Amino acid sequence: MDDLYTKMLDSDNFSTRQRLVREHEKNIDLTYQKHPDLKKLDETISQLQKDMASFLAKKFKGLQNIETEIETTKVKLNQLLAKKDTYLQKNNISEDYKEPKWTCEKCQDRGKIYLNNKIDACPCQEDYSTNIRQKMSGLSIKLKDASFKNTDFSKYSPKDRQNAAAVYNMTQKYLTNLITNIKTVGTFSEGLFIHGETGSGKTHLLGCMANHLIESNVETMYIVYADLLDRIRETFGDDRTETESSIIRKINSAKVLLIDDLGMEKNSEFAQKYLGQIIDHRYRNMLPTIITSNFTLSELKDRSKNDMYGERVIWRCVETSHIFHLSGNLRNSI
Ligand SMILES: [Zn+2]
Repeated sequence: MDDLYTKMLDSDNFSTRQRLVREHEKNIDLTYQKHPDLKKLDETISQLQKDMASFLAKKFKGLQNIETEIETTKVKLNQLLAKKDTYLQKNNISEDYKEPKWTCEKCQDRGKIYLNNKIDACPCQEDYSTNIRQKMSGLSIKLKDASFKNTDFSKYSPKDRQNAAAVYNMTQKYLTNLITNIKTVGTFSEGLFIHGETGSGKTHLLGCMANHLIESNVETMYIVYADLLDRIRETFGDDRTETESSIIRKINSAKVLLIDDLGMEKNSEFAQKYLGQIIDHRYRNMLPTIITSNFTLSELKDRSKNDMYGERVIWRCVETSHIFHLSGNLRNSI
């Protein structure tokens, strides 16, 4: 697990624990207010347990004549514990009222467990960290459940079905390669460009890829280029919550960047400037970018004659990307 995620998990676990402990203390207070007798019992029991511990310590040190005290305390303690049991039952108070209500009993919401002489992530963290990754990736709710496993090719018309299955297959191979490289050397210079008409399912395919990467613990960023430009425009206003450079920095540094629907944005110098910066930065740092578009690369290049993206950016994509075509129109078949 990389640092940022571990930190997020740790701070999240810390605040969850704090919240639960606070809630728990409040609950105990309330219980004691309602049951002062229980409070008194608990206090006496706790005092006797302390006495017992100190008697046992003395005995351990070899002090004589302590046996009687130990015996008497033991009897008193047992009597009080039995009395407390009866009290709890009679008043319908759960036996573990002094235990905080952890979401995960195993790690008591620490997120880590001590097992076989080492500290390890608790199994409860796996789903949780996938969730955080998904949240951080910018993936829309619509794509949260997209997965290679649940993709239904029967939605494609018979003539497009085989091609779609082949594209999905090649995409998975590409991802396997990418993940291995990112995990071993930290970079992977091959990108992917998926061209497909509106309704051909390319956004779903991108969602499958994003989720697969997230589940494989690869830091992933999903953007729709037009939305990114809107976000950048918002930073020019007075009530900005993030800055232009912080947005670009996040996108530049993502291990894998997925750009959905390139070319949907209004053709402008503004649009061209950021794409140029992003693609250039990722190219120089050998970080992969996966792009889907309604346009083919040569159509995007034609548009660049009017200054769109600049030909150089498109050449970068041609030079570094595998190019797949997804055909079909799923909208007609649903
Ligand atoms: Zn746990």
